[in-house]
Amino acid sequence: MSPTAQNPAKPVSDVIVIGAGIMSATLAVLLKSLDPALTIAGYERLNAVAAESSDAWNNAGTGHSAFCELNYTPERADGSIDISKADKIAEQFELSKQFWASLVAEGVLPDPGSFIQDIPHMSFVWGAANVEYLRKRHAALLHSPLFQGMEFSTDPARIAAWIPLIMEGRDPAEPVAATRMAIGTDVNFGALTRSMVTYAAGLPGVAFNLGYEVEDFRRKDDGIWRLKIRNLATDESRIVRSRFVFIGAGGGTLPLLEKTGIPEADGFGGFPVSGQWLKCQNPAVIARHEAKVYGKPAVGSPPMSMPHLDTRQINGRKELLFGPYAGFSTKFLKQGSYTDLFKSIELGNIRPLLYAGARNLGLTRYLIGQVLQSPEDRTAALREYYPTANPTDWQLEVAGQRVQVIKKDKKAGGVLEFGTEMVTAADGSIAALLGASPGASTAVAIMLDLVQKCFPERAATPEWQARFRALVPSFGQALAADPALTTAVRERSRRLLRLDA
Ligand SMILES: Cc1cc2nc3c(=O)[nH]c(=O)nc-3n(C[C@H](O)[C@H](O)[C@H](O)COP(=O)(O)OP(=O)(O)OC[C@H]3O[C@@H](n4cnc5c(N)ncnc54)[C@H](O)[C@@H]3O)c2cc1C
Repeated sequence: MSPTAQNPAKPVSDVIVIGAGIMSATLAVLLKSLDPALTIAGYERLNAVAAESSDAWNNAGTGHSAFCELNYTPERADGSIDISKADKIAEQFELSKQFWASLVAEGVLPDPGSFIQDIPHMSFVWGAANVEYLRKRHAALLHSPLFQGMEFSTDPARIAAWIPLIMEGRDPAEPVAATRMAIGTDVNFGALTRSMVTYAAGLPGVAFNLGYEVEDFRRKDDGIWRLKIRNLATDESRIVRSRFVFIGAGGGTLPLLEKTGIPEADGFGGFPVSGQWLKCQNPAVIARHEAKVYGKPAVGSPPMSMPHLDTRQINGRKELLFGPYAGFSTKFLKQGSYTDLFKSIELGNIRPLLYAGARNLGLTRYLIGQVLQSPEDRTAALREYYPTANPTDWQLEVAGQRVQVIKKDKKAGGVLEFGTEMVTAADGSIAALLGASPGASTAVAIMLDLVQKCFPERAATPEWQARFRALVPSFGQALAADPALTTAVRERSRRLLRLDA
């Protein structure tokens, strides 16, 4: 997509979105759908849409529904399983599917096969204690309507029929267990983002400007935000103005949030974690795997580094990846600068950063271990999931960069968080999204919250409420408490998104 100029007829935009990733794209499409008269300008530093975390190979493309991710179902001290987080994540992904389904029905999005596919979501564990955990997790999840249909097995033959690569060459004496949810999905968030931006950029009053970096913010007494933007091709800077600003700059959000000067930004820091995958090059191997299979994360590792052997569908091709291998880089963006981490440190966040660092020595040790991994170590990790893997079939690829949120905490001084954090000014004139997990899958839930927080009067009007429900039929209702509604919205999403499982 070539850069487009900002609409000169309306020098003060209603909305500016910073970054052309899944978050800004979702917000732009949602807002235009609520009020077609809004003017929206987007600024993206790269010359391409969705080229950072949202691009297909920079993330795992898992439609996070807590079907297979074991970190969303922790074991309590009494041995029971807490499914509250799993219910929340599953519910949020259903909102995303409903929204995308509506966009397909309205002709906003093209053929759903270009961005979403059915793929079973499985968890696989070995060892008696892990088998017992998975059995309890399965039993607990079946109490929720969101997890009906999940299968559980400890039978090696049945599991081998589901995931032959994972069972071949495994010690038959070792106890194993797996769960399988047929209605899992693989999402090409890059393709989805590009389709949404292409659609939005074609609407009157919307312009997405590529190759422009947002550098600074000022707000005067008139309440209008002034953003200093730099054209990276010509090195010229200018000021653009807007009533509302969303900082959807992914890893680049924290430094921008700090520059806004809003008191709500005080005390936030960021800790970058990079990632790598092994990408399979052998079509015969790729053809033999048909699932996203998540395992248990290693002791001390951050929750998002659960190993998984993962079928993907990218640009019409079936692919297979294993990973992620975590790493440490001081960059906040894959295409960022090694000075990003140091530049983000300021008086207001140095204390939370130091305390969070001191409290997470296990994570530091884990990351150092990951960075020092040799190719043989990586093959050994792969063979825990695919025992007969041939290392020459696999190639190492760099994934996207995540910036984990560090927050001020009264008791602990500072805490490291692994979720996302929406920071909004008290008057709702600016909002910023920090963190990366569960990420793109929850973009719709995050943006529905943002709109209600930052545009409260308009969001409460009958017109916007009706539009919310048209786009997301279960809007305002809890799926986890309503089996009939869960079945109905799932059926609608499956039909409109043409998912067959
Ligand atoms: C290894 C990995 C695996 C993941 N796996 C999954 C998964 O399986 N499922 C899932 O749902 N999520 C996953 N995620 C998370 C998901 O990728 C992110 O949550 C999501 O893509 C974030 O979207 P975004 O729009 O906030 O950021 P991005 O897609 O990173 O977009 C931000 C944009 O802002 C631009 N930008 C930055 N600074 C500036 C500036 N100053 N001026 C102008 N533009 C700027 C950047 O160039 C970029 O294009 C994963 C992430 C990683 C890194």
